[in-house]
Amino acid sequence: MIRTSHFLDDAATWLGEALTLLRAQHAEAASHTPSCRQDWNRMLCDTDLVALTWPEDRGGRALPTATLIAFHEMCARHRAPQPINSIAHAILAPTLLMFGTSEQKARFLPGIRNGTEIWCQGYSEPRTGSDLSSVRTRAARQSNGHWLLNGHKIWTTQGHLAKWCFALVRTDPAGVAHRGLSFMLVDMQAPGVRVEPIRQLTGETDYAEVFFENVEVPANQVLGAEGEGWRIAMAAAEYERGVYFLPRVVMLEQELAQLQDELAAAAVPPAERHVLEHRLQSIVDLCRVVRSRVDKVLDAVAAGETPGIEGAMLKLLWSETRQQVQEFRLELLGESALLGPEAIDSHPESAAVVREFLWSRAETIVAGTSEIQRNIVAERTLGLPKDRGAHAK
Ligand SMILES: Cc1cc2nc3c(=O)[nH]c(=O)nc-3n(C[C@H](O)[C@H](O)[C@H](O)COP(=O)(O)OP(=O)(O)OC[C@H]3O[C@@H](n4cnc5c(N)ncnc54)[C@H](O)[C@@H]3O)c2cc1C
Repeated sequence: MIRTSHFLDDAATWLGEALTLLRAQHAEAASHTPSCRQDWNRMLCDTDLVALTWPEDRGGRALPTATLIAFHEMCARHRAPQPINSIAHAILAPTLLMFGTSEQKARFLPGIRNGTEIWCQGYSEPRTGSDLSSVRTRAARQSNGHWLLNGHKIWTTQGHLAKWCFALVRTDPAGVAHRGLSFMLVDMQAPGVRVEPIRQLTGETDYAEVFFENVEVPANQVLGAEGEGWRIAMAAAEYERGVYFLPRVVMLEQELAQLQDELAAAAVPPAERHVLEHRLQSIVDLCRVVRSRVDKVLDAVAAGETPGIEGAMLKLLWSETRQQVQEFRLELLGESALLGPEAIDSHPESAAVVREFLWSRAETIVAGTSEIQRNIVAERTLGLPKDRGAHAK
């Protein structure tokens, strides 16, 4: 316990100083840019503030999950950026620790720990997003035991920056749906990997299309057993829903506070103000529900459990509530919203609101759409029959 509280005290002191340094180079409004997130990742790695819960013999600090949660909450409250390698920290590392061979852990954990190897997640394909079990990227075993990979992934977050990709691929062509899939660790610099960045609505480029054309993947880069990909991807998804959500909920609360200030300062006629305040109150209530859900999920995670159905509910409520906050903020901006996110230099505050509004549109899609989360809640909590699409397969 003493160790934990000392750790958090030291981390709080470091955080204040480190963010002052970071903001001398990157304005807070630009904290989502890859270069700021890369710098922040490096600062955390250099200070031994990643790998907090990993075992000591793997380069970690063996701290309790509750400390990791408290540290993430602290970072979010200080408005720290999301480190560029958060996919590796939050999803891949726990999955590697659980399913990796000793050799795989020795090969891949240090690059995540030291910040030298950025990872991306290669699951989605054209026509294969919600229904991951229909993955068509194929790997065929060669006579030397290695795999030859062919296929096309899409919406791969930071695919153009990553050194490695963890991909879900079909290794048994006769395997139906989720059977016959394997979880592969693919070198993004290997011959035959082609990456095409995608420009999004905000004008930024956060994701890419990834093409695999006769890419050789060594046999020791399959995580877990051949054909076990689905089980591993589902375990990895549980990690994604845990601590990873906390900064997003803190950010939602901060944005709600901004919205309250913006409404208080807005020049609106009294009759209209009453309606707007009523609308604001319903969002405040929703945010309270989101906070109670995230606390419930984090209690479960700290106790060593997986979020399960609570994670689906949290994802749904958080993403839809954030859209309401951003829509409201955009409306209050009025005509200056027309300037768009590219006006960041001339009108940084309104450009930032427009950017967050546009980005929030993606949040009911990424990591499982709202329709899919509702199906999960309907089937697993309310006991309703499976959706017709699933029966048709
Ligand atoms: C910002 C962002 C980042 C992303 N990053 C990554 C990444 O790093 N790696 C990665 O692999 N993928 C990534 N994705 C892809 C994401 O996982 C998929 O977009 C998502 O799973 C939805 O799949 P889809 O786009 O193929 O839509 P589809 O599955 O084609 O769905 C289209 C529409 O149909 C609805 N629908 C589909 N099936 C059902 C059903 N059974 N019942 C009711 N409605 C249904 C969906 O809800 C949706 O509205 C990212 C996406 C976004 C937006």
